[in-house]
Amino acid sequence: MSYEVLVIGGGPAGLSAALNVRARGYGVLVVSNPPEESPLWKAERVENYLGLPGVTGAELLRTMHRHAKDAGVEFSAGKVLSTVRMGETWYVSIGADMENARALILAGGVARGKKFPGEAEFLGKGVSYCATCDGMLYRGKKVAVLGYTQTARREAEFLEGLGCAVTYFDRPKTCAISGDKQVERIVCDGKTAEVAGVFLLRPTMAPTDLFSDLAVENGYVAVDRRMATNLPGVFAAGDCTGGLLQVSKASGEGLIAGQSAAAYVAALLRKEKNN
Ligand SMILES: Cc1cc2nc3c(=O)[nH]c(=O)nc-3n(C[C@H](O)[C@H](O)[C@H](O)COP(=O)(O)OP(=O)(O)OC[C@H]3O[C@@H](n4cnc5c(N)ncnc54)[C@H](O)[C@@H]3O)c2cc1C
Repeated sequence: MSYEVLVIGGGPAGLSAALNVRARGYGVLVVSNPPEESPLWKAERVENYLGLPGVTGAELLRTMHRHAKDAGVEFSAGKVLSTVRMGETWYVSIGADMENARALILAGGVARGKKFPGEAEFLGKGVSYCATCDGMLYRGKKVAVLGYTQTARREAEFLEGLGCAVTYFDRPKTCAISGDKQVERIVCDGKTAEVAGVFLLRPTMAPTDLFSDLAVENGYVAVDRRMATNLPGVFAAGDCTGGLLQVSKASGEGLIAGQSAAAYVAALLRKEKNN
């Protein structure tokens, strides 16, 4: 499907951005992991969000989600794995599916944790971030699943259904992936598995893995006052831009990013109409 704006991440920043795109009359899709995987879901009480003292993180997220949905925001559950721009359109892969939009808003929160040794080196040579996309390549082979999400066990079962022999590591802390030209083994928390494939199932992706030329400053996405990044049609908001990692700041930046993305789309459509 084609949208005017696609938002990556359904936390406070992404939902606020999407709501403000809708307020300008444009179609917007939010692609996100389930809300239970948002860090805010775990907050027992949020005391500093104006007007809602003592609200639980889960209730705050549910309320924000309902607000955006009632305004006509569309939702798709899944993880964005990569993006590419062709002409004036961004194409976004979500698991095995693809969506496209004229502008993107990056609101994926903070990607916690460093890459494991061998992870970047063997990406596409045995390392994958998506079982449903790449599982068929490993039919009948030994694979490891490093599960950090609530759906990871299901993805491991999916691989077993394809005939893979799965070694499951539950939220391992330290791993090292090695091999010659392709993955041959993984060692996680002292346990070794000889495998042809490693599925790393994390809830988030580092912004620089989603956009290869994205400018970052001190590990956070660099933005100007319009929340525009260095890439055409790409805006960012919330924890991923750094500074205070708080809900009010995330939803405020989401508002600016949503309005800026809508203005960008309006200018693009005007230009196309005049050509
Ligand atoms: C335990 C706890 C308590 C907290 N308490 C408070 C508090 O009291 N007050 C306060 O102001 N703040 C609090 N915070 C901080 C607050 O939760 C964050 O600042 C806020 O949620 C940031 O919003 P965000 O939208 O930028 O990112 P997030 O809320 O992190 O949302 C980003 C979403 O995008 C998803 N995502 C990431 N990458 C992808 C991808 N590639 N594809 C699809 N989806 C993706 C993530 O899974 C996540 O669901 C707390 C945080 C924690 C962990």
